[in-house]
Amino acid sequence: MADTNRHRLLNLLAIPGNNTCAECGEANPEWASCNVGIFLCERCAGLHRGLGVDISRVKSIRLDNWDSDHVKTMEAIGNEKANALHEKHRPAFYKKPTRSDPQILLKEWICAKYSRKEFDDVDRQLAYTSTTKEGILMKRGKDDKKYNRRKFVLSRPENKMIYYQKDTVTSRPKAEICLDDINLVFVPGKMQQANGLQITYLLKGSTRNIFVYTDDSKDIVDWYLAIRAAKLERRKIAFPDRDEKDLAEDLTQDFIMEGYLSKMGPKNQPFKKRWFSLDKRKLMYYEDKLNPFPKGERFIGHRDGEFSVSMRAAEARPTQGYAFTLHMPGRDFILSAETREDMDQWICALQKVIETPLTPQDTKIASQLVPKRHEPFISMKK
Ligand SMILES: [Zn+2]
Repeated sequence: MADTNRHRLLNLLAIPGNNTCAECGEANPEWASCNVGIFLCERCAGLHRGLGVDISRVKSIRLDNWDSDHVKTMEAIGNEKANALHEKHRPAFYKKPTRSDPQILLKEWICAKYSRKEFDDVDRQLAYTSTTKEGILMKRGKDDKKYNRRKFVLSRPENKMIYYQKDTVTSRPKAEICLDDINLVFVPGKMQQANGLQITYLLKGSTRNIFVYTDDSKDIVDWYLAIRAAKLERRKIAFPDRDEKDLAEDLTQDFIMEGYLSKMGPKNQPFKKRWFSLDKRKLMYYEDKLNPFPKGERFIGHRDGEFSVSMRAAEARPTQGYAFTLHMPGRDFILSAETREDMDQWICALQKVIETPLTPQDTKIASQLVPKRHEPFISMKK
């Protein structure tokens, strides 16, 4: 009997929709929730277990015993039916997480879906769909590098987010950020903080980074969603004929690549180790990865505009690590990775950007970026 049940269960995995995790899309799920009727990867199974057995009963497909009733539930439901039911009112700005997303986004997604049932009823989404949002975020100080309580206010009608020097409203805000320019990326590893969020925007022609978190993971994800919701609303007004799903596609965008590289200093000075970040078409480097401003940043254009990347430097001169060259109009930029794998990943990422045609939005950013005169980004003239 047990063998028959297992056999029925394994057959279900072959059905399209069941062959990937119901939450994050990871291939070949090995776990299931026998009352929700879905198949899960190991990571999402762990998060489902955290919901409690009254909400989700998690079992291993291969290792646990399955009775006929549970198998019948799995046969009757399955991933596609369950998701159609539990994600019925998922707003377009609430991106479904993928396996590469940090734990905080997966955890809050699963809690929103089953514990708080936010996708059953739009009235349960008020924490991020209201026209204004106020609260306290822990913000890393620019100078003291400590995290301090700061008051943040998001206003959709004014299309901006402001924050104050203190944890209350003071006479003048410390900064006003236009929502059109804002990008958000969860960076738990970089900040050494599970709920760490990096907010970036352009300030006087330079990228400005703010690092924030809240102790309650729901709170910071609500902020993330509120900003995405506000951005989508603006886009819908600007492009009323376009599909909402398309408009929600890149409301925020994760960094393409981040990590340490060494760069050759000006006038062939020795290589210096820097934290590099490739954000859409902006390549930035920092002395410290949590610096509020990059030490240098450059817009990476299209190959028709004389941008390319090559391994030429490695052959041209003996250097430390694995060197490669980023060619830009009139300038070459020599970089070195610590491992061959890192170098390949950077070259591949840069090449992909260079091959991608420019969008009107890219051209706007290129025109806004002001090259830093006193901190040359480029190592040598051609
Ligand atoms: Zn999963």
